[in-house]
Amino acid sequence: MARRQLIAGNWKMNMTTAEATELVQQLSFEYLSSFKTVDVLICPPFTSLRSARVVLGFDKSPIALGAQDVYWEDKGAFTGAISPLMLKEVGCTYCIVGHSERREFFHETDETVNAKVRALIRHGISPIICCGESLAVREAGATEAVVTSQVRAALDGVSAMNAPRIVIAYEPIWAIGTGRTPTPEMAEETCFAIRTTLIELFSNATAESMRILYGGSMKPSNVRQFAPMPNIDGGLIGGAALVATDFIDLVKAFV
Ligand code: PEP
Repeated sequence: MARRQLIAGNWKMNMTTAEATELVQQLSFEYLSSFKTVDVLICPPFTSLRSARVVLGFDKSPIALGAQDVYWEDKGAFTGAISPLMLKEVGCTYCIVGHSERREFFHETDETVNAKVRALIRHGISPIICCGESLAVREAGATEAVVTSQVRAALDGVSAMNAPRIVIAYEPIWAIGTGRTPTPEMAEETCFAIRTTLIELFSNATAESMRILYGGSMKPSNVRQFAPMPNIDGGLIGGAALVATDFIDLVKAFV
């Protein structure tokens, strides 16, 4: 079964609401005239989600809306946290979990990633589970072991029935925001190892239906090397997602 490619923009902690509104308008306008064959997703900061939803709704845009993180409880005394219910209410259909920046700066662990994945699934939101190795792990030849163990931990207790809505994003930490990338063959090798793990966890058919993205310094100048790889089903884009023309170029590479 051919998988529908997904190109997702992770805006990180960038864009005021006014800036975000302008960028969504640009993307929404461009999208209307093209790309019916791929899924496009933007993940602005929490504060801009509602404005983004309003613009996308006004334009009847098929661009999907996602968040960059979530807490696993529905409500309660968790100061500063955002629940899956709140994301759903504002129109999010995806949510990134376990990004390496959250693991590094906000003490995210495999256990909290798993709790977030399960909470999102309970509310019908598709988790985008990030995994990836440090440079030290890559140089020690342990990439596959580390990445597949992150994937297994994140999917603990997830049923095969719910698996198809889950997206895995392979992001080598040393490639994020650095301008360095693995070769397309290296990225494909790790994505293939992830696919093999999904087959072991679920079934061949389920694993074949799940999308695996590559992320890490993907740009208009290098995307066409990654896009044809058989186990790369799209991209998770950071810096280049903040410039409308760059993000549109990236989307076009997967059309
Ligand atoms: C990311 O943070 O998910 C990412 C891929 O960033 P960049 O594209 O800037 O490397």
